Amino acid sequence: MQTRVIDIRTNKNEALEEASELLKSGEVVGIPTETVYGLAANALDEEAVKKIYIAKGRPSDNPLIVHISDISELSPLVKEIPEKVKVMASAFWPGPLTMIMKKSDVIPSVTSGGLSTVAIRMPENEYARAIIKSAGVPLAAPSANLSGSPSPTNAKYVFDDMNGRIPLIIDGGASKIGVESTVITFATEIPTVLRPGGVTVEEIRETIGEIKVADAVLHDLKEGETAASPGMKYKHYAPKANITILKGSLEKYIEYTSGKDFFALVFEGEEKFFKNAVTYGKANDGLSEAGRLFDALRELDEMGAKTVFARCPELTGVGLAVYNRLIRSAGFNIIEL
Ligand code: AMP
Ligand code: MG
Repeated sequence: MQTRVIDIRTNKNEALEEASELLKSGEVVGIPTETVYGLAANALDEEAVKKIYIAKGRPSDNPLIVHISDISELSPLVKEIPEKVKVMASAFWPGPLTMIMKKSDVIPSVTSGGLSTVAIRMPENEYARAIIKSAGVPLAAPSANLSGSPSPTNAKYVFDDMNGRIPLIIDGGASKIGVESTVITFATEIPTVLRPGGVTVEEIRETIGEIKVADAVLHDLKEGETAASPGMKYKHYAPKANITILKGSLEKYIEYTSGKDFFALVFEGEEKFFKNAVTYGKANDGLSEAGRLFDALRELDEMGAKTVFARCPELTGVGLAVYNRLIRSAGFNIIEL
């Protein structure tokens, strides 16, 4: 299969026509969103959704997020819309927030990974919403990387992973946020954050009060523990290099790594201390770290890095999302300095 790339910033009509035609006929298209690029297909078409799992090499029990372009598209997809979902939607949609609810019968079981719930998001990226609108159906779309590797934040990285596997990629420029959406379930008694993202735990608490944060956000699942979010049990975001997170000050990091042969994954301004270094945003600035993390991981692979020591982000705000991805990239390899 030949994979075409159309730049929607310069060829809007062609991009929308080609994408919607393919999506309507049950094909998979790579699309830009503000979080990361998505691998999209008609969420209501079982055969189309199966093609996503095949293109990604994703285990079929890991459910997909269904993307809508307008709040009016929500009610047919779910059994009921909880009050708190309405409050959250008006505060954060369109945006990097995915909400899980009981699914209606129009959502096929492949889309929900066999669960009775469905994850829904309205993206902020105007191209993403234009593509959903012109396709005329909700789009199931996981991140557009091969399962296990870092999520792609631009069309080139989608092409690197998906060339020959899907017919079309729509290029809409770099993703604004750079890590996947916050996932929160409303199918539990107390709403529970399953994955941190661009909408922060602090912001959600301010908006709807009491919420929980799933244990697996900050830790590896223990033997025999079941994942509230099936995605948490899989290896994730892993570059080829072996990453170890060093928790502690820059001074201690320098001391620990001195004399070792390694690549440094550090914050801006710190690279001058190391022979081989890649930066990922500013210290204590989660949003800037999120914007760089997955690109930095791919760059380390391009540089042929084998051993990487990473500086540790703060666990507040968007930093929590960055930490959640980094610990998985590192296979939970963390050293307290
Ligand atoms: P991705 O498709 O790569 O953005 O990942 C979506 C994440 O949301 C995965 O970790 C899924 O396991 C999780 N997810 C999607 N739908 C559900 C659901 N119905 N219940 C729990 N987790 C879900
Ligand atoms: Mg993913």
